[in-house]
Amino acid sequence: MKSLCLLFLAIAVGAVAQEQHPASARPVTVIRAGTLIDGKSDQPRRDQVIVIRGNRIESVGNAASAKIPSDAKVIDLSKQTVLPGLIDSHTHIFLWGEDPDKGGYDVNILMAPLSLRAARATVAVRRALEQGFTTLRDVETEGAGYGDIGIKQAIEDGIIPGPRLFVATRAISTTGGYMLEGYAPELTMPKGAQIADGPVEARKAAREQLDHGADWIKVYMTHRSWVGKNGELVSQPTFTVEELKTIVDEAHGWGKKVACHAYGGIGLHRALDGGCDSIEHGLDLDDAAIAQMLKQSTWYVPTLSPYYYDWGPADTPGGQRDRLRAAVHEPSFKKALKAGVKIVFGTDMGGIPWTDPIAQEFSRMVSFGMSPMDAIQSATSRAAVMLDMEGKIGVVAPGAFADIIAVSGDPLRDVKALQSVQFVMKDGQVFGGK
Ligand SMILES: [Zn+2]
Repeated sequence: MKSLCLLFLAIAVGAVAQEQHPASARPVTVIRAGTLIDGKSDQPRRDQVIVIRGNRIESVGNAASAKIPSDAKVIDLSKQTVLPGLIDSHTHIFLWGEDPDKGGYDVNILMAPLSLRAARATVAVRRALEQGFTTLRDVETEGAGYGDIGIKQAIEDGIIPGPRLFVATRAISTTGGYMLEGYAPELTMPKGAQIADGPVEARKAAREQLDHGADWIKVYMTHRSWVGKNGELVSQPTFTVEELKTIVDEAHGWGKKVACHAYGGIGLHRALDGGCDSIEHGLDLDDAAIAQMLKQSTWYVPTLSPYYYDWGPADTPGGQRDRLRAAVHEPSFKKALKAGVKIVFGTDMGGIPWTDPIAQEFSRMVSFGMSPMDAIQSATSRAAVMLDMEGKIGVVAPGAFADIIAVSGDPLRDVKALQSVQFVMKDGQVFGGK
C-alpha cells in the first residue's frame, strides 16, 4: 500500500514537473512559408518563418532575419501559400447528404442505427480536417441526440482525427416546426430537433442542452417555405419572440450564444427581435432586417452552396421554390456585404454530401462580389471572433494555436485553390504525420 502511494506521488510530482517544464523544453517546429495569408491582415506577406513551440505559435517573422532554433524540425512550404486552419461555422457531421431518391432525410432517422451514424460522423470530421478545416461549429445532430458531444470528446482525447468542434447538440423547434412529418397523424414520429412549445418548455430545452454540454444553442425560427401569391418566398415562422427570448436569455446566462435558422419574413424578424446572435441561411433579407443586424451586431452565416443542390423539377411547386430560394439568396448576400454585415463562412455540409469539397462555398461567395481575402477572413479571424476564440484560432500570429494549412496556388487570384489543401497542422500536429 505504501509503495502504491509512493507511486501515485511520483506520478503526481512528474505531472507537476511536466506542467512547470520551461517552454524551451517543448518541441519546436519551424514552417517556412513562401506566402503567408495570416487570416487577419489585409495583405499577404512573402518569405515568412513561423516558429511553433508545442501546440502554439511563438513567432512569425521575415525569413531573412529569423533565428531558427538549432533543434527545430523544419517544414518547408516555401513554394506554397500558408494560411490559418479554416473554420466552417455551419456543418452537420451527423448528416450524410441524404439523397432524396434514396428516401432522403427520413431514412437517416428511421433506418440508420446510431452506431452507423456515429461511424459516418467519424468520417465526416476526418474529411473536414483533411480539407484544411481545423474548426467546425456543428449546428445540430439531426436526430442523433447528443452524439456530437461524444465525437468531440473522441477528437479531444486523440482517439479519432478531427477539427476542434463547437457543438449545438439537438437544436430546438416547435410543434409543426421540424421533420419527420407527413406521416399518419395517429403515429408519433421521432423528430430531428427537440420540440418545445411555450416559454417554459423552450427555456427547459435550452437548459437540458446546455447541461449536457452544448457550446451553442441552435433554434429553428422558420421551417417550411413555398412560393407565395405574388411570387415571393414565404417561410413559415416557428417560435414567438416571447418563446425565443427565454432561450436566448438562458443561453446568454451560461455565456453561450444562439444560432437561428431563419430564411426571411416573420420568422427572421422574430429571430432578430428575440436577440439571436447569428442568422443562419438568411435567404431573404429585407432592408429592415439588414439594418437591425447592423444595429445588433448580428452574425450572418449565409450557407450559399446547399441551395444549388437537389432542385425538384422546374414544373413542380417544390422545384419552383428551390429555384426561388437561390434567386433571392444572391441579392440578400450582396446587400448584406455592401452594408457591412459580419458575414461568416458556413456550408451546411452534411446537407451537402461530405464527399464534395467544403471549400466550394468560397467560390460562391466570391462570385457574388466578396473579395477572396474577405472570404478567407470569413472562414478564419472573423469566425474566430464569433466563436469567442479571437487570437486563438483563425490567425497565424504569436499566441495562437498552431492550426496551419497550405495550398500550392494563390487563393487571392483563384479562390478555388482552397479546394486542394496539401498540408494540415492542427494544434501543432501535422495531419497524416508527414
Ligand atoms: Zn444546417
